Amino acid sequence: MVLTIQEIHTQITSKAGVSLSVARADLIHPLVSGNKIYKLLPNIKYAKANGYNELLSFGGAFSNHIHALAHMANQHSLKSIGIIRGEKEYATNPTLQDARKAGMHLEFVTRENYQRRNEVDYLAELQQRYPKALIVPEGGSSQQAITGCAQLAQHINNDEAQAFDTLTVACGTGATLAGLVCGAPQQQSLIGYAVLRDESLVGRVEDFINNEKGTIFSSYTIEAADFGGYAKFDKPLLDFILEWLEQTGILLDPIYTSKMCMRLMQQIEAGEFEAGTSICMIHSGGLQGWRGMKNRVIKLAGDNPWEKIETVLQASIM
Ligand SMILES: *Cc1c(COP(=O)(O)O)cnc(C)c1O
Repeated sequence: MVLTIQEIHTQITSKAGVSLSVARADLIHPLVSGNKIYKLLPNIKYAKANGYNELLSFGGAFSNHIHALAHMANQHSLKSIGIIRGEKEYATNPTLQDARKAGMHLEFVTRENYQRRNEVDYLAELQQRYPKALIVPEGGSSQQAITGCAQLAQHINNDEAQAFDTLTVACGTGATLAGLVCGAPQQQSLIGYAVLRDESLVGRVEDFINNEKGTIFSSYTIEAADFGGYAKFDKPLLDFILEWLEQTGILLDPIYTSKMCMRLMQQIEAGEFEAGTSICMIHSGGLQGWRGMKNRVIKLAGDNPWEKIETVLQASIM
């Protein structure tokens, strides 16, 4: 696995005297979200070591996790089952079409049933129907995933010449953040940007960390970055993404990394980081999610911005 660290310069970072690099986990695989690779590999290893030949997991109709799990299971000769929130009409969207092409069996459930995805009874019922499946929680966020994300921190810190004071990552379930907290050097601090309004996030991160007995942790904070709610996508966010693309050549994803980056740049501009601080922001991927956004982008800003986004996508994921 090759992880490129790219230093970037913007007017805001120069003015604040802050150095900013991007860990390009989005470039590891043309289709699979970067952090999902780190999360899923230990799950696959666990499945194989324990006699499972299928992976079963949960997600929304545009889920990066479902998309990644279908590809990775296929690559490792495991079958896959996706329990998808919503109607079966979604099966033709680009995310689920990819998943089906990778051999995933899709089962669509109502919102009410989806709510049960962590309940013991429901999981037992699924296990009975799929006895050979390792059931992986939503987002791939099992305790195994923590080990994988700790490795991501190690990959970022491989180059001793580049010592970062702070790592930043976008949070959904918080498992990636928890893994980084376990894998980063103690003096490095972490900031997790919460793209969902979810009061259970901190408790979950703490549980993941506390289950990793004997590990030395870095300190971390969580910063609200939902900008109106999960998957809320508006003109200011789109404008930010396009400006960032123009300045750095890096396309952020519409759900996670764009909101992290927008909030981070606001913080840098507001002087929340001392001059001389070196920050490494993790681009966790998620570019596949753009494929469902064409109409929204065109409606918000016209054809030209969409063409700019599509050009990058065509060069990387399509
Ligand atoms: C899933 C995902 C995240 C969030 O990861 P968690 O471990 O659930 O916090 C961040 N960025 C991208 C691109 C993702 O697909």
